Amino acid sequence: MELKDKYAQLCKEYIDAFCEKQDMVFSEEVYTDYYLVFNDFYIIDIETVRYDIDNNIEKGVIKDWYNYNASNFQNTYVNYNSYIMGVHKVNQEQKDESENTPYCTDCGNEDLIYIDQYANGEYWKCKNCEKEFIYKIKKEEYL
Ligand SMILES: [Zn+2]
Repeated sequence: MELKDKYAQLCKEYIDAFCEKQDMVFSEEVYTDYYLVFNDFYIIDIETVRYDIDNNIEKGVIKDWYNYNASNFQNTYVNYNSYIMGVHKVNQEQKDESENTPYCTDCGNEDLIYIDQYANGEYWKCKNCEKEFIYKIKKEEYL
């Protein structure tokens, strides 16, 4: 058997296993393309299919990952293994954090007096309850 035929056979085995596990239908005739279409909708590369099978990823995670990227087009594309290792959660936490404005940790009031900047955050005083506290600065970078 020629090398390219062996490769095609391997791709087909991976794709068949993927379809069976994920309950998806392969939409193409050619098994050796890098980008593959499933259910006439999901465009998934062969490396991702291979990762899914080799690591026995739970059924359905692939669709969650795909939808995550599809609805997250303004941010950085997250590849499948990073998604599984939880990078999407880190991104979400960072997003939540950056959207926060300082508020009193005691009474929740956002009407504050800025006092000073410290290494670990900003020092604020609440106009409502007069509590002084440090509000954690959002991180500029991650990873
Ligand atoms: Zn307060």
